[in-house]
Amino acid sequence: MALLEPPISPELPAFANAYLKHDKKLFINGAFVDSKSGKTFKVFNPATGDVLAQVAEGDRADIDAAVAAARRAFESGPWRSMSPSQRSRLIYKLADKLEERLEDFALLESLDNGKPLTIARVADVPMSVDNLRYMAGWATKILGDSIPVPGEFHAYTRREPIGVAGQIIPWNFPLLMAAWKIGPALAAGCTIVLKPAEQTPLTALLLAELAAEVGFPEGVINVVPGYGETAGAALASHPGVDKIAFTGSTEVGKLIVRAAADNLKKVTLELGGKSPNIIFADANIDEAIAGAAFGIFFNMGQCCTAGSRLFLERSVFDRVTKGIAEVAKTMPVGSGLDQQTQIGPLVSDEQLERVTGYIASGINEGARTLSGGTRVGTRGYFVEPTVLVDVKPGMKIMREEIFGPVVAATPFDDPNDILGPANDTVYGLAAGVWTKDVSKAHKMAAGLRAGTVWVNCYNVFDPALPFGGFKQSGWGREMSHNALDCYTETKSVIVKL
Ligand code: ADP
Repeated sequence: MALLEPPISPELPAFANAYLKHDKKLFINGAFVDSKSGKTFKVFNPATGDVLAQVAEGDRADIDAAVAAARRAFESGPWRSMSPSQRSRLIYKLADKLEERLEDFALLESLDNGKPLTIARVADVPMSVDNLRYMAGWATKILGDSIPVPGEFHAYTRREPIGVAGQIIPWNFPLLMAAWKIGPALAAGCTIVLKPAEQTPLTALLLAELAAEVGFPEGVINVVPGYGETAGAALASHPGVDKIAFTGSTEVGKLIVRAAADNLKKVTLELGGKSPNIIFADANIDEAIAGAAFGIFFNMGQCCTAGSRLFLERSVFDRVTKGIAEVAKTMPVGSGLDQQTQIGPLVSDEQLERVTGYIASGINEGARTLSGGTRVGTRGYFVEPTVLVDVKPGMKIMREEIFGPVVAATPFDDPNDILGPANDTVYGLAAGVWTKDVSKAHKMAAGLRAGTVWVNCYNVFDPALPFGGFKQSGWGREMSHNALDCYTETKSVIVKL
């Protein structure tokens, strides 16, 4: 039930109290240091709006120092001469340490981002561990080819690390995004300057602590919290950075591309989405209802893959929309620390404004709410899970990424005509299809212009599966062996015999 005032845990658990008591610092060249300016910024608890921590504010000068440390570590440090199996060992050790500290990380993530602790425990942290282990295994399997060419030559390729990787990550899955980014970079032999989102820098800093503990040489992993327009922009435009990997909004992704142009950094981008989720009348409707609710309400809809445009075959439209609205109405809203909570707060007051603004715009343009539609309480950043019907393709809520627990449902009549509306978006990150008809499922999977298509499921990820976007949802792929390609250069060597 959506409560009028969500319950807020008054006391922070012991680990969080101890960890957050002192200002958090930047992690540069193997040590925690103050920012050169001496400035700090506040990190808020989204469940209360209170200050959670004070964090050193990295800026251009700190990015310079971190890039210099990463460059030294890449060119001349022990990292350079380490064997792939030694690198692999270190990444495995980091994964093990992270697993040992699962409770601490889950707690920090829940406090910092607002997400339910119960979810951080079973999703964010274990998936991060899994990603690191998967990439640790690749470190020893990055191979070149031996290539037959005409004439008396021996020709082969080498896969070499790109160099210093700048990595800019968002606030929706702070630890997991850090793991997705650092795993392949480390496996490939790159060194890293990671800039976490200003809203959620805490777990990346704790991860840096573990990296030092398990013995990563100084300068291999640097973590510089700070704002996007300052620290982020300095990293994206830095001449000493060879590659930039960004996850965030499409708008900022375009800025990153421009900033990276001067020294033609290699760029990978994982950007926004407006994913279609299509339910055919021949689907298992109960499963489709549960899956569609999960597809939009998971992580309070703050997922780039959120199934935010729901296309329903007309004969099941009422049943499905009512079913999802029913799920929405029974999801407990509250502090992430509360064991019952399924819908925590959004990450920030800015997000609260943005999401409630989109709901208002939908209603102004003629949409109707079947559930939700409003903020919950007056403290913290809570919004009810919301189902909107009577929507039209041109509405803002059908075209723009809301990044909140808000789904817009629209009926369709002819299954053969649904690909057009489903693909009618500038994005192409993910899509869902619900049907028992195998032929229809595969035809849809082929026709949808999206990097991931889920059939009779939603939001299923694995480190072995490539993840990324078509169209304006991005460049390149994360996870899987494809991610390694984005951190290596291929060199051809031709030897006259
Ligand atoms: P959101 O709008 O969801 O907060 P953003 O795309 O703004 O997502 O942020 C994702 C990440 O990009 C954050 O780490 C943020 O600090 C960073 N960022 C924001 N603006 C810039 C910028 N101009 N240059 C580099 N990084 C930026």
